[in-house]
Amino acid sequence: MRLCHSIILFFLVTSTFGQHVQCLQQGMYEPESQEIFIQTREKTHLTVVIHVLHRTSIDSISDEQILSQIDVLNEDFNQLNDNFDGTPAVFKEVAASVDVQFCLADKDPDGNPTTGITRTKTNIDDIGLTEAYYQTNLGGIDAWDPSRYINIWVADLGNSSISGSGTFPDQADPPGKDGILMSFKFFGREGVAEEFYPHDLGRICVHEMGHYFGLPHTFGTIGNGCNDDDGFNDTPLQDDPSFACPDFPAADICTQNNGVMFMNFMDYTDDACMTMFTAEQKNRIHQTLNGPRSSLKDNLDNICIVQTETPPETKDWNFFPNPAKDEIILEDEQYTGEKMSIYDTQGQLVLWAKALQRKSQISLSALQAGIYYVHYKNSFKKLLIVE
Ligand SMILES: [Zn+2]
Repeated sequence: MRLCHSIILFFLVTSTFGQHVQCLQQGMYEPESQEIFIQTREKTHLTVVIHVLHRTSIDSISDEQILSQIDVLNEDFNQLNDNFDGTPAVFKEVAASVDVQFCLADKDPDGNPTTGITRTKTNIDDIGLTEAYYQTNLGGIDAWDPSRYINIWVADLGNSSISGSGTFPDQADPPGKDGILMSFKFFGREGVAEEFYPHDLGRICVHEMGHYFGLPHTFGTIGNGCNDDDGFNDTPLQDDPSFACPDFPAADICTQNNGVMFMNFMDYTDDACMTMFTAEQKNRIHQTLNGPRSSLKDNLDNICIVQTETPPETKDWNFFPNPAKDEIILEDEQYTGEKMSIYDTQGQLVLWAKALQRKSQISLSALQAGIYYVHYKNSFKKLLIVE
């Protein structure tokens, strides 16, 4: 569980811009090889469903905010987080990439296509503080089969000190509660979450996911001194939680010299301060995935569209806006008449176009709202189409 600390509100700035665009060749449903979606399963793929419980326009978070949380999970569990390099060298030696890949479900429990996001309107105040959130008949929404899906409920937790919670393996009571509960304020790093510094980078959910896989806090139980620990040899003994962002080294009564590992995702520091899991934490997660949560690995009928290799530098092309409604502008300084293809989450080609100008206008009017993948010049970018 994570508690909230000081919260500073930031104000969002919006901007407008004008664009000159050119028309181009465009078509629909052209048969094309889908081999580009063939992927290795080096990483353990885990299927996630996000249940948004909303009462107001503020807690009805955007798809973009949700996708940003999936991105954070995949970065932090694979040592791809931007701030990893800031880890002190002595702790970098024991840091590990957990090597799991989180994917939004694209098939629901009945096998129907889905975006992996459910949205439920509720009239219950602070529903996340009640037992209703995981029960449809009480005004929340039932979990999707917790043996196959990681259920994440995103709800209003009011002004309580709780920002999220995650159930340990085999400990959900009742079993339908198995999964993670998150405050909408601290979910992801875009949208509303941007206003909730210092927990505005999506790491509360990374921490709760750690609990879900069986990781205790680095400090054990609060107030239990130095003999009570997380049981891992590669995290130093630690008395109580660390807060804010201490300077390294941060010694306590249990550990001197290099001090405690306050940058571990299972401590209580600010999002920007957290950088790592350790090798023994990784082992515990994979023990859980080979033990009480092994059935999560069997949900293989869900296609997980991910990039299998480090993507080439893609700054030479881009499109905007994203999320988009009726059209996008594909921008490419070195256009050479190459084809841009848009795929849905099933891997089906749904639209193609050839870039014949530096800026090409592409109509999306034939596509429904949802998540898509734009393929151009050997790289993918995610596209969100909204109503
Ligand atoms: Zn916790």
